[in-house]
Amino acid sequence: MGRVCKEVQDWVEEKIEKPVDTWVNQLQKTCKQQSCNWWCLCCNKWLCWLAWVVVKVVTWVVVTVGKWVTRIVCEVVNVVLDVIGFVVELILSIPIIGGIIRTILNWVTEVIWRLVGLLDFLGSLVGIRLRKKMYFGVIVPSIDGTPIVGDAEIMRQVDAAVDFYNTSCNINLIFTGICHTDIKAPEAGLVVGCDAGGFFGDWLVGGSYFEFASATCKFTDSFRRVIGLGAEIIVFIVQDVTPAGTNGCSFASTHNYVVIEAKRTDQAFVAAHEMGHACWLPHVSDPTNLMNPSTPTANPILTNVQVSLVRWSKHCVYF
Ligand SMILES: [Zn+2]
Repeated sequence: MGRVCKEVQDWVEEKIEKPVDTWVNQLQKTCKQQSCNWWCLCCNKWLCWLAWVVVKVVTWVVVTVGKWVTRIVCEVVNVVLDVIGFVVELILSIPIIGGIIRTILNWVTEVIWRLVGLLDFLGSLVGIRLRKKMYFGVIVPSIDGTPIVGDAEIMRQVDAAVDFYNTSCNINLIFTGICHTDIKAPEAGLVVGCDAGGFFGDWLVGGSYFEFASATCKFTDSFRRVIGLGAEIIVFIVQDVTPAGTNGCSFASTHNYVVIEAKRTDQAFVAAHEMGHACWLPHVSDPTNLMNPSTPTANPILTNVQVSLVRWSKHCVYF
């Protein structure tokens, strides 16, 4: 969650520190250019310089110290929250009981945040779409020390998704990086069934792997994943998604992650498609639509309702 602190700091620097600096520099210029009033021994000039020094010192103390105190407090609070989130995720990594709690928690938080965001959803439907943001990251397992897919292949999916959600939904899709997890993936974490078997399989060792790898790879998002709001969507690379012909899988709000196959190098929009499912988009029959079961290979589209559904997701936030 530390990213919030960085964003707040960036905002302070851009919107407060910079304008204040400009103003103080302007004052300095004015003092320099002023001509002396000799009748009072140049009092106008030295009063001006005095004012400049006071302003400079006060603004420096308020802005710089304020900024760093805020940042440090923010970071400490975040670390504490993420440690709590991490511990919760460890519990959620326990097969069966952890898996069942996880499924319930993920759906409950989704429904709560959708209710909270109902007005925003309606606004979006009639075209009010201020910029929102959504985070996602990729986790890649290795077999015998070799990642099951190269970074270049992953980046194709990443770039396509970022570009797509930016232009079609006015969402700033922020990529948080590729994590090569050291956790050894069990068979169920490498071959995922996109059916009822896969759904219930997530309560067993496969789901534990996804949860534990997320907790360790994406620690700074732990708390958000527990409360749901603004949680990263995690794209796990797997070897195979069954049944045959399926390139990826998502069980909507059930998980904070989606899976995509490593082998489909001709497809750039699989990650974008699965993220659509994670945000409640079902399949549609239009072959040009991103959510067609056989994802289009170029220039996919989304309908007005689909765009609004994605923007309404708990993953998609203003802050
Ligand atoms: Zn699909």
